[in-house]
Amino acid sequence: MAKRNTITKQLILDSLKDSKTAVSQEILQKELGESVDRATIYRVLNSFCEDGIVHKILGDDGKFYFTICMNCSEKQHKHNHFHFKCLTCGKIECLPNEVDVKLPAGYQSVTFNGFISGYCSNCSSLSANSF
Ligand SMILES: [Zn+2]
Ligand SMILES: [Zn+2]
Ligand SMILES: [Zn+2]
Repeated sequence: MAKRNTITKQLILDSLKDSKTAVSQEILQKELGESVDRATIYRVLNSFCEDGIVHKILGDDGKFYFTICMNCSEKQHKHNHFHFKCLTCGKIECLPNEVDVKLPAGYQSVTFNGFISGYCSNCSSLSANSF
């Protein structure tokens, strides 16, 4: 059983790494097939979040999307970046620019949830060509 769990974790990690976009639990479920149940995917994703490997993005559709962390550790996630969703191809990605938000004195931030939708470089050059 323990071995099976390890394999499942590896499968989920691999598909997150291979994916060029953040993925929802449903997308992962489709990729992995029926062999892995919902509860397991949910549990594995949350343990990755706790380990500082993966972070959650709250999409504008109210669903959570998951993607690999770049500079996080088990102790601290560092995510002062916006997420971008392309309205044409549907890709959701982390923007590399760190955002420094100035809070009023005495305020302390815990989470940062910035979400932008628009057109990615691929799609905006495509639509530019068609005009
Ligand atoms: Zn992180
Ligand atoms: Zn796009
Ligand atoms: Zn991100």
